[in-house]
Amino acid sequence: MSEATKFSIVVPVFNEEKVLPETYRRLHEVMEGLNEPYEIIFVNDGSSDRTMFILDNICEQDRHIRIIDFAKNFGHQTAITAGMDYADGDAVVVIDADLQDPPELIPQMIDRWREGYDVVYGKRKERKGETLFKRFSAALFYRLMRKMTDVDIPVDTGDFRLIDRRVCDALKSIKERNRYIRGIISWLGFRQIGVEFSREERFAGETKYPMKKMLKFAFDAITSFSFKPLKLSSYLGMSLSFFSFVYLMVVVYQKFFTDRTVAGWASSMVISLFFNGIVLMMLGIAGEYIGRIYDETKGRPLYVVRRVRNFAVEKDCRGR
Ligand code: UDP
Ligand code: MG
Repeated sequence: MSEATKFSIVVPVFNEEKVLPETYRRLHEVMEGLNEPYEIIFVNDGSSDRTMFILDNICEQDRHIRIIDFAKNFGHQTAITAGMDYADGDAVVVIDADLQDPPELIPQMIDRWREGYDVVYGKRKERKGETLFKRFSAALFYRLMRKMTDVDIPVDTGDFRLIDRRVCDALKSIKERNRYIRGIISWLGFRQIGVEFSREERFAGETKYPMKKMLKFAFDAITSFSFKPLKLSSYLGMSLSFFSFVYLMVVVYQKFFTDRTVAGWASSMVISLFFNGIVLMMLGIAGEYIGRIYDETKGRPLYVVRRVRNFAVEKDCRGR
């Protein structure tokens, strides 16, 4: 491996035994067509199926393939981070393993990169074969993010993108734990451009983003780029106290100047439940932030690697 690597492809994989051979085949075809030195880095994010076995086999036959094997499941965003940490290329492409992001778009991204862009992101112009709920929640999420943050994060883009070596190095200097990578990349700036593609159906297998992971992802995204939810609680608190004050005046007035009896138990019950609900929700929001602060201060490595294959230095089990 004397020639300098030009392109690094980073593929996070979590239980993708059904798609991996096809993913490899298509990536291989596209990359061979370019006639430039490249590497494909598969990051095995603690899969429990035959993913690692398949990867080892591919690695056996193809010296372009590298493996980072995580000690457990650290999550999609962390897997991408590890791939970028190990990547050697002048340009790094991140792509999902399930072929929802077409590898055939990579040459187009490279063309834009050659024109001088530092970040070329894939912009989804349609999403095929995804449930109405997923499409709706995704659309809502990207638009909400836009409203909530001051960072200009393009809507409907995922992590499928090419980044220049300089962007990759800049990313490495960011130590945040609960990461929202596409947000961080937007925050970094540089010259960015999108190329449109239609997001295909998952080639095989099921989504690895169940509701719980999706929610965590959304919370990470919002909390790492916005304080607006926290401000919300102060605004709500202020308006509530204002209205209660007005109401207090009304009650006092009634007590002294009218003979109307104060009605019922039900209304006070409803009001107390409602406000308790709001208070708990606000505590929860504050808690989301505090939890993440705690996470950052512990300073644990972002990920732990069990083993790597086909890298120049094979021995390490570094994290970050
Ligand atoms: N993935 C991962 N770790 C996880 C969840 C997902 O590495 O904990 C990978 C997965 O193998 C795939 C990519 O992240 O390559 C995107 O996941 P998926 O396609 O399931 O998400 P969706 O497209 O449904 O949002
Ligand atoms: Mg997918």
